[in-house]
Amino acid sequence: MATLLKIASPRDGTPLGEVPATDPAKVQAIVESCRRAQAEWAATPLSERIARMKAARRRFLERAEAFVERITAENGKPEAEAWMSEIVPTADLFDYWLKNIRPHLARERVPLNPVNYPGKTAFIEYRPRGIIGLITPWNLPVAIPLRTLVPALLAGDGVVFKPSEFTPRCGALLAEVFEGMPLEVVQGAGEVGRALVEGGVDAVIFTGSVATGKKVASAAAERLLPCSVELGGKDAAIVLADADLDRAAHGIVWGALHFAGQDCSSVERVYVVREVADAFLKRVTEEVSRLRLGVEVGPLTTPAQLEIVERQVQEAVAKGAKVLCGGRRAPKEGLWFEPTVLTDVGEEMSILCEETFGPVLPVVIVEDAKEALSRVNASEYGLTASLWTRDVMAGWHLAAEVETGVFMVNNHSFTGAVPALPWSGVKRSGYGVTGSHLALESLVRPQVVLLDRSRAKREMWWFPYDEALLVAARALRDLALGRVGALGRLLGAFLRRFK
Ligand code: NDP
Repeated sequence: MATLLKIASPRDGTPLGEVPATDPAKVQAIVESCRRAQAEWAATPLSERIARMKAARRRFLERAEAFVERITAENGKPEAEAWMSEIVPTADLFDYWLKNIRPHLARERVPLNPVNYPGKTAFIEYRPRGIIGLITPWNLPVAIPLRTLVPALLAGDGVVFKPSEFTPRCGALLAEVFEGMPLEVVQGAGEVGRALVEGGVDAVIFTGSVATGKKVASAAAERLLPCSVELGGKDAAIVLADADLDRAAHGIVWGALHFAGQDCSSVERVYVVREVADAFLKRVTEEVSRLRLGVEVGPLTTPAQLEIVERQVQEAVAKGAKVLCGGRRAPKEGLWFEPTVLTDVGEEMSILCEETFGPVLPVVIVEDAKEALSRVNASEYGLTASLWTRDVMAGWHLAAEVETGVFMVNNHSFTGAVPALPWSGVKRSGYGVTGSHLALESLVRPQVVLLDRSRAKREMWWFPYDEALLVAARALRDLALGRVGALGRLLGAFLRRFK
């Protein structure tokens, strides 16, 4: 009998139904069936694939309400967040790839040195990798998969997609949008994910935790599969003395508490310089205290997540952290944690060094930008960071010193929604890239095609190896150094060699 994924609303525990999980033993056959459809799809002219993707874009946007309903039900995030993070930017995502897939995949003609390689023309062609195994999390159950689905399918790949077991109905609805394209959905948790990575796919795209990301990357390495892992973060915001404190407080509170802090790029640490610390903390605490549970701040999506957040906050308090607001589970049904501001926190506390993924904003007072930067870079993670200052140029100059994949001056987090920008990290945040033409590296492979119209019976470097070849080699080196007479010696060697 099929295992059933039982889903319940994180808002109040209401059962949302059951979704049959895929039998892990059947995943390989699903990959093979997707491969047959992919072969036909890859042979379909790009103009036709583009036309079909335009229809998918329309289907997606027309069903926006249905997506929002499933996102808010399964993930729990407020309706406004579902619209602003998963629907609105997605129109841009489709448009970016519809407009750019042709130039990004265009054949490139590569000029060859006519002296070394006479009569030859070289091209780089971009071929689909084949079947992409896509494993995505519950925090952006629609937007994250779409960042791979749209370019992969346009590029001619097939995709076998495992949505999170916490948001399976969002995944199923996505499959309907791409009907007629080589997309298969497998439902389930770790066993199904493992079966997918081991099931004959040609590349793996994974977003999720560091621990699982390492397992996925090592299983992919075992099979020599290209693998992109986008993992978590412990993202920091730095507030300098000349910052616009109102903007900084509004921006950082949003950066920390949108999706109830369950974003890989949520602000999870703030370093504020002493001069403005009191004024900043006052603004932040007032703003956070005004937030309404269920309107601005949703619940945690999974029971395990709620436990992590509670454990980290309790540990911080036990070690001396001060709670300025929140600090506990909300006294109501569901997986709610009160939006929390902590101060007097230290780097030895898990709240400052482990990923929290919850509505908690720990604030650390520092002496200056230098100290803040060194603390930001001391983290094992390196996804995004932001700096808040009125001196935008000075902020820009610091970018090279920050060890993250994204660095923003006076804003936080949102560039993940911009399809033309690469989203990537360093260190434990993983090396995957989604967004921009750089994301295509995981989805297509380069193939060199060389056409030779030379009438010569042999190439200079073919057998036999004789004295004339050595003279030619030295003449080529001399030519590269601009030495006088090199060309004459080269021609002489050519004549002798091909006589
Ligand atoms: P995980 O990364 O642990 O799991 C993601 C999915 O992969 C789950 O379905 C999981 O199944 C599955 N999986 C487990 N083992 C394997 C394997 N060997 N091969 C393939 N797939 C596998 O994410 P969680 O949802 O459990 O969240 C845990 C933590 O991850 C959070 O606390 C947060 O810190 C971080 N996270 C980061 C995200 C990001 O955007 N970077 C997004 C979501 C979470 P199973 O549940 O059975 O383990």
